[in-house]
Amino acid sequence: MADGGMDVFVDKPKCTGCRHCFDVCPVAVFEMHPKDGGNVNADTAPADKQWKGTDDPAVVAKFKDMPDGHTHFTEKSVAVNGSACILCQACLIECEGECIHITDTSGQKYISIYK
Ligand code: SF4
Ligand code: SF4
Repeated sequence: MADGGMDVFVDKPKCTGCRHCFDVCPVAVFEMHPKDGGNVNADTAPADKQWKGTDDPAVVAKFKDMPDGHTHFTEKSVAVNGSACILCQACLIECEGECIHITDTSGQKYISIYK
């Protein structure tokens, strides 16, 4: 949980595994983990946003056939280094699942919105 520093977590059922956050973050906040084998819940996501084995059906329907060169729904993004976030906002406009949550040092909250 946020302790007055920067806090970042991923709403796991909505994450498509597109890797956009991993690719754009300049300070390596995110790691990609196999959704059925990695340490997927190793960020500060609250219980209702942790991975429990079921992708969000609306997000799957929207992105399962997306021809963007990424393999979807095999991995989940984990915000392992959220305290390093510099709020550049790059991930916030690249996130297909609209599932990145950031809380800054003043308590302001941001949620990614796909452009
Ligand atoms: S807003 Fe933070 S987590 Fe997102 S890309 Fe920028 S530094 Fe990384
Ligand atoms: S950009 Fe969003 S949907 Fe794509 S891997 Fe990162 S958290 Fe998941």
